Amino acid sequence: DVTHGAILYLEDVTLSFDGFKALNKLNLTLDDGELRCIIGPNGAGKSTMMDVITGRRKPDSGQVFFGQNIELLKLAEHDIANGMVGRKFQRPTVFEALTVAENIELTLLGKRAPWQVLKARSTPAEQTRIDEVLTTIGLIGLRHQLAGILSHGQKQWLEIGMLLAQNPRILLVDEPVAGMTGEEMARTAELLVSLAGERTVVVVEHDMAFVRKIARTVTVLHQGSVLAEGSLGSVQSNPKVIEVYLGE
Ligand code: ADP
Ligand code: MG
Repeated sequence: DVTHGAILYLEDVTLSFDGFKALNKLNLTLDDGELRCIIGPNGAGKSTMMDVITGRRKPDSGQVFFGQNIELLKLAEHDIANGMVGRKFQRPTVFEALTVAENIELTLLGKRAPWQVLKARSTPAEQTRIDEVLTTIGLIGLRHQLAGILSHGQKQWLEIGMLLAQNPRILLVDEPVAGMTGEEMARTAELLVSLAGERTVVVVEHDMAFVRKIARTVTVLHQGSVLAEGSLGSVQSNPKVIEVYLGE
């Protein structure tokens, strides 16, 4: 019963660590182009779910479909990273000794070592793509600056840009606004909203003020499965959700 237009479909995904079910018959459907927020208390299984979607961990049971018929669990992590799912971890990992533009160039030029990028030649089409990405993330004016001088928020956007350069169909971002100023948070909300549509964006976030800014559909995870799903208002007034968060 795959939903028409689904880009990702998890069916009864279970993954245990030493008998403890971090994911317990998790079911999730993402529509192509949507912006989805995933929330849930610590230990709910959010990171483990991302590990499964990116191919970093294989579940004990269940199925994961990408689009209508690609069985994601049969693919290796690097194949999934190549145009299917891009994942941004919480801490930015930009190359501080390279310029802002070179950081994007690095991901376009692929699997080369960072010091080789400085000598490598990107094509005019790649240069255009670098400029597009830099414009999207709002850093075009800082393209020749070393990434090391960027603010924490700017580094987060640069890392999103590094993923965008690889054209993922799904962009997963883990707590994008942790440590950001209010203004950076507002710009991040705008950026993520603008990125949805052309691709699917999944945001794992604890900051409810931020979720309120961007949320379309919110999924609440608890003990490895979906506790509630719907508009932010509907999940926030759900008694099961209130109980779980009061227990934190
Ligand atoms: P969240 O990201 O929602 O905080 P996680 O997916 O990190 O939750 O963890 C879900 C559960 O699985 C937690 O109880 C956690 O302790 C456990 N867990 C996660 N990774 C491991 C691991 N590598 N080894 C053992 N237990 C783990
Ligand atoms: Mg986590």
